[in-house]
Amino acid sequence: MIRKFISRVLGRKTTSLAGTPAVIGVKTHGIRREAISAGCRRTVETLQQHGYQAFIVGGAVRDLLAGIPPKDFDVATNATPEQVRQSFRRSRIIGRRFQIVHVMAGPETIEVTTFRGHHGDQDNHKAQTDAQGRVLRDNVFGSQQEDAARRDFTVNALYFDPTSETIIDYHHGVADLKQKTLRMIGEPKTRYREDPVRMLRAVRLAAKLDLVIDPATRRPIRELADLIENVPPSRLFDEMLKLLTSGYAVKCVQQLREEGLHHGLLPLLDVIFEQPLGERFVMLALENTDKRVRQGKRISSGFLFATLLWHEVLTKWEAIKAGGERPIPALFQAMDSVLDVQAEKLAITRRIATDIKDIWALQPRFEQRSGKRPYSVLEHLRYRAGYDFLLLRAASGEVDETLAQWWTDFANADGEARAAMLLPQKPDEKKKRRRRKRKSNGATSDSASHETA
Ligand code: ATP
Ligand code: MG
Repeated sequence: MIRKFISRVLGRKTTSLAGTPAVIGVKTHGIRREAISAGCRRTVETLQQHGYQAFIVGGAVRDLLAGIPPKDFDVATNATPEQVRQSFRRSRIIGRRFQIVHVMAGPETIEVTTFRGHHGDQDNHKAQTDAQGRVLRDNVFGSQQEDAARRDFTVNALYFDPTSETIIDYHHGVADLKQKTLRMIGEPKTRYREDPVRMLRAVRLAAKLDLVIDPATRRPIRELADLIENVPPSRLFDEMLKLLTSGYAVKCVQQLREEGLHHGLLPLLDVIFEQPLGERFVMLALENTDKRVRQGKRISSGFLFATLLWHEVLTKWEAIKAGGERPIPALFQAMDSVLDVQAEKLAITRRIATDIKDIWALQPRFEQRSGKRPYSVLEHLRYRAGYDFLLLRAASGEVDETLAQWWTDFANADGEARAAMLLPQKPDEKKKRRRRKRKSNGATSDSASHETA
């Protein structure tokens, strides 16, 4: 009561200055222990029975408060990784730089993290930073209060104890969430310098939770946007993948552009936004992805990257054709060259690259609607993805809608109707094919004659 009064009179900093957090009861926040997965609850209870503090922390508490089902549950504790490991039969320590423990609870794997300490304070645990202030190492254990202070946004620094059903809140996260505000803990500029990925997280979380980025948190982003270039590509890629598959990709990408954050982010975004047709295509693809994610459907990263890179392929393809190469070899050269460049910057695995190429390589085959070829396209392993890709190309105005419609009808038609849909072969095409046949026959007899010779 008294604290509440002081806090109202002195403003929002009181509790964090005093170091005593607000302890918010279930009547106020409304989260019951049943909302936590069984495995996670058991993990927290076991740690507490062993005499340690343990809480559900971060995204899960935030999402539950916002009425969104959490993706996963993370646990924070004052037990060291070794102590955690000793408390569970099925657990293992992972990570070298900062150890966390994976506790296997039935079918779930719960990530348990020891409270992390302050970096940059007076003692000799000072975190190492690069010339721009980016934190390179911060592997120090600390108190719960310190752990809260090193998290990024106030809404991400909430600790839920399922036993007492209370939320421990050091930075007014519950109030901020209620007021739909995303606010950085501490001095925003410093926090962005420590880790520029926080700029992307701000955009993604604001979009996902429908929050307004607090002006003081938002202001420095434009000025510091270039710091993104210092972030290791693999980390950037992970964050971009999270952003693009968040179910709010369109909103995120628009916001990235508003904040001046889209340049140099993903090499591919730069190029896309420079081309009107490419932009329309990518936006349609992202709308599509958002819809699927929100319906709980699986999305394929191959398809996503195939769309993001397609207009680069088109540009390259044109250039190679203009140099005199035949269309199909030109397409394959363009595909390889685009993927080679991206592979240096992105963690596109070989398997994803194969999916991407299959989708691209199907596109010119959709143009051929006579003879036997359409049948073999239908039987292609990646036909469905290739066809979805064609629909996007049609919707963005790159190819004629009638082509996409033809394939929709062709796939739905039965045997006879299908055959009736085939376009007549062009006479010159027939001639060409005959010539090719003759040539290949000739080649066979040639080699046969070599053999007999
Ligand atoms: P989601 O899981 O929905 O993507 P999240 O906030 O849970 O969002 P995680 O990457 O799972 O994101 O991180 C878990 C928690 O770790 C965050 O809620 C936040 O408290 C902390 N955290 C994550 N990334 C950072 C960062 N770059 N700087 C500071 N704290 C971070
Ligand atoms: Mg999370």
